[in-house]
This record gives sequence, C-alpha cells and structure tokens, in this order.
Amino acid sequence: MSTILTGDRPTGRLHIGHLFGSLLTRVKLQAEYDTYVEVADVQALTDHFKQPEKIKDNVYEVVLDNLAAGLDPHRAIIFIQSLVPEIAELTVFFGNLVTLSRLERNPTVKSELEQKKSLFKGGVTYGFLGYPISQAADILAFKAEAVPVGADQEPMLEQAREIAHKFNAIYGKTFPEPRAIFSDFPRLKGLDGSVKMGKSLDNAIYLADEPAVIEKKVKTAVTDPQKVRRHDVGHPLICPVYSYQQIFNASQAKTIAHDCQTGKLGCVECKACLAQQIISYLAPLQERRAHYAQDMPKVRDIVRDGTAKARQRTRETMEEVREKMKINY
Ligand code: ATP
Ligand code: MG
Repeated sequence: MSTILTGDRPTGRLHIGHLFGSLLTRVKLQAEYDTYVEVADVQALTDHFKQPEKIKDNVYEVVLDNLAAGLDPHRAIIFIQSLVPEIAELTVFFGNLVTLSRLERNPTVKSELEQKKSLFKGGVTYGFLGYPISQAADILAFKAEAVPVGADQEPMLEQAREIAHKFNAIYGKTFPEPRAIFSDFPRLKGLDGSVKMGKSLDNAIYLADEPAVIEKKVKTAVTDPQKVRRHDVGHPLICPVYSYQQIFNASQAKTIAHDCQTGKLGCVECKACLAQQIISYLAPLQERRAHYAQDMPKVRDIVRDGTAKARQRTRETMEEVREKMKINY
C-alpha cells in the first residue's frame, strides 16, 4: 500500500476551507492508502512560540475536527508531531541540504512573513525560515508518496521533492519524491473576500460553528461590490458567496449565477439559502464531533495509539537514514 501524510497546525479550529481543501480528500483516500495525519504542533510553534497555551488548547480541537470530517481511527493514524522526535532528528540532517537563499525564495514563506511582520520585526527566526525543511521531514519520515493539501502548500512540496532528490543523490536512494494531491477547491476564499479563508484571519466558517453563528457570518460576508440592489447585474465569479454556493449548492449553482447576473436574485436571498445549505451539510459532522467529544479518554487513546504507530514507522526510516549517512555506529 502507498502512503499519504498530511496534517494541520493546531493554531485554531478547522474550517470549511480545510474541509474542502484537504480533510475530505484524506477521508476519501484512507481506504486506499496507509494514511498518516499529523497535528503539527512543532510547526505551529514556529510562529506561535509566545502562545504555547493556544497551541495546546487546539491540539484536540484539530483531532476532533478530523474525526468529525469522517477520518476513521481504525484506518487512519492520527499523531502529534512533537511526540515523534525522529522527525526533529531528520530535520537536522535535511538542514544540510537546503541553502538560506532557497528558503527565502519560498513563495508561501514570503507571503506568510508579510502577514507576520510585527512578530518578526526584529528579524526572522531560524525556526520559521526553516519550517519547510521540518515539513519535508514530516512527509519523508513516513516515506509518503502523496500529500493531500490546499494550493498554498505546493511550494512546500516542491522543497520536499528537492530535499528527497538531493538526499538520494548523495546518500543513495532512500526517499520518494512526494506529490501534492489537490481537491477541486484548493483555495477557498475568506468571508471578507480575501484570497484564503484562514484560521488566523477571522474570516472563516468553522466546522463546529452553531447554526445561528453560520447565519450571521454568511449574512455579513462580502459579495460583488457592484451589486448593491437585487436588480443590479452581479458577477458571481468574483463573489466569495457564490464560490461557497458552488460547493454547498452545486446542483443549483448555474441557476443562481444566472439569476444573480440577470438581477432576479438578490444577495440577501442568495445568502439566506446558502446559510441553510451549509448548516444542513455540517449537521452530521457536528453530530459526529459531539459524539467523540463526550468521550475524550477514547479520543486521547486514539492519539496515543496513532503516535506509537507513527513512531514505529519513523524509527524504521531513521535506521535506514543513519545507515545511509554512515552514522550507524
Ligand atoms: P495557519 O494560519 O495557522 O497556517 P491555515 O488556515 O493555513 O492556518 P493549516 O493548518 O496551515 O491552516 O492548513 C491545513 C491544511 O488546510 C493545508 O493542507 C492547507 O493547504 C489547507 N488549507 C488551509 N486553508 C485553506 C483554504 N482556504 N482553502 C483550501 N485549503 C486550505
Ligand atoms: Mg497554513
């Protein structure tokens, strides 16, 4: 069986962007692949090192969101990154294979640095600049061939492939060159119209949001600024609300676009219908979330077992790595 690895940073609860960008793909693939899902607390600390409580509080929220989305703990392995020290060890060795200028060129790191200017105003840390190396180690410690992710992660995969390639060239064939698996919705827009719905951007509908919260968020979402009244001609393709209609109301999306463009459908009505679609779509996920949440000892067992299995797999990889690097004294 081939292996996939993916993960989420415990910087907040997961939202519908995560669901359609990555969670549903991992749920679908768990039957065909050895599936590893990492709660990336070490990576989260690279830009939240001053907020350890926040990361701690979100570790099990992220686990619950994955279970809510349909991850089956009998098939998929869920683990916590910091409890698998082999990944940290591999990160150190990979550090020799990447130049500083290559890290500075990574487009995702660049745009994230732009967002985190105030955190790094005294200069960017070694840990943050180097997180693509640690992410390559996450993937390659499991020899994962494929990684279901959102579009923002492609530059990370490119770096991981370069690292695998270089390692193999120097020390002998060890790692696969992993590819990204994208869904049909690899970059869901934010409620505020920004290019990415993000946990830290306050522009998201969370999987655990209550119906009244969803209604309120959808009501205040940004739409086509040129459509002020119902009769105005709308431009669905630039409207974030329409992008959600394409997901949650796919069978009616064409009619909605037509009625929006011809002034037959106003934003208030369009949003009201969307909110109901989202609420009913999320209802069974929320039920599953609540089911697991009322038995947290069981959830902790799932993570404990998953972490033990993850360690086993990475230990095997590290034995091979030490042998190839001639440090198996
Ligand atoms: P942070 O701001 O802490 O980085 P995030 O919202 O980017 O949070 P991550 O935990 O970094 O979330 O990402 C988890 C997965 O979800 C990744 O595969 C990422 O590509 C994907 N993802 C994140 N945001 C979106 C989005 N808006 N649309 C589609 N996929 C997304
Ligand atoms: Mg992210």
